[in-house]
Amino acid sequence: MKLAMIGFGQAGGKIVDRFLDYDDRTGSGIVRAAIAVNSAKADLIGLDNIPQENRVLIGQARVKGHGVGADNELGAEVAEEDIDEVQNAIDAIPTHEVDAFLVVAGMGGGTGSGGAPVLAKHLKRIYTIPVYGLGVLPGTDEGGIYTLNAARSFQTFVREVDNLMVFDNDSWRQTGESVEGGYDQINEEIVRRFGILFGAGEVGDGQEVAESVVDSSEIINTLSGGGVSTVGFASEEVDLNSGGGLLSRFTGDGGGSGDDLDAANTTNRITSLVRKAALGRLTLPCEIEGTERALLVLSGPPEYLNRKGIERGRKWLEEETGSMEVRGGDFPREEPEVSAAILLSGVTNVPRIKRLQQVAIEAQDNIDDIQQESEENLEELVEDDEDELEPLF
Ligand code: GDP
Repeated sequence: MKLAMIGFGQAGGKIVDRFLDYDDRTGSGIVRAAIAVNSAKADLIGLDNIPQENRVLIGQARVKGHGVGADNELGAEVAEEDIDEVQNAIDAIPTHEVDAFLVVAGMGGGTGSGGAPVLAKHLKRIYTIPVYGLGVLPGTDEGGIYTLNAARSFQTFVREVDNLMVFDNDSWRQTGESVEGGYDQINEEIVRRFGILFGAGEVGDGQEVAESVVDSSEIINTLSGGGVSTVGFASEEVDLNSGGGLLSRFTGDGGGSGDDLDAANTTNRITSLVRKAALGRLTLPCEIEGTERALLVLSGPPEYLNRKGIERGRKWLEEETGSMEVRGGDFPREEPEVSAAILLSGVTNVPRIKRLQQVAIEAQDNIDDIQQESEENLEELVEDDEDELEPLF
């Protein structure tokens, strides 16, 4: 599937930048165009792969290239004011070759949090192709204002896109990591999961054609109907034997390595990978029961993929989610691993979002109280007790 990716704000820009790097490394060909939009000049300069002409600085009149702080209302305002600048960059990309837009942003900050929903709304008005969002939730340790920003952005962003895929930094935080190093790993996880999903069906020259191909329309159909999505992923390393044969590194299941490629083992490996992917760490943790639609993509060397395994995995997902719309297919790749990526679309039982909203409301009340208190304190400081002094004017 070919995407026009627009990274809004620092996190959004860095993630899209990383998608370009992933595309380069894997030849997946999912990024047809990449644009970064920011109100902070330094963040745009810090990107590695997005072409200079596709880096759009907005809000110069208001914030002079210094960013909007964590003020997402200002982020939304400058995005609205300078939407033509963003549109100019989009005009230069061949949108007729694009299957969908993907607007990427961290929802806890200012520029992306406020600007991404504004851009999504604009794109939906102009184009007929789907507009998807990839929104990143802040860590719970980032504090009240980030949580409040994220809760408000989430509500707005979901409404403006055809589907909002969510990644929760909080579930992926590594203790003892520097913030930057931590984000590096997290961003790699993001591009790997979404890269495999969107890469399915993007068969390049000379690549194997999948036995049961996942094509763009299946991804689009899974995402259509709107709402919120999460992605599960699990992989297992296998050896790619340079002599042409394939040997698994895992020989613990009874047989020698040669046995690993018999149909029963291949099927079992796939079914257990599907379970691990669905029941393991999701990009947004949630209850998978009640998911409206799902897409299962099995990728790896063709010898390790079989229709029976995918069918079984699909059936199991239908039972676990209760959904009647579970699609599945394979994505042959000469990589030394077999992986299952599962897109769960239209999830509704998400305690993490409910908690986020609760904390956001508390933060909002606190901010209101503090503001009122500080106004009162200032008044008490400035005014003399008996009101004997007169201001100049
Ligand atoms: P903006 O530039 O004003 O849109 O704000 P940022 O993008 O810098 O930050 C918004 C939120 O995104 C932060 O609160 C973090 O939770 C998150 N964030 C910042 N940088 C990264 C990153 O590189 N990767 C990920 N996954 N999240 C990030």
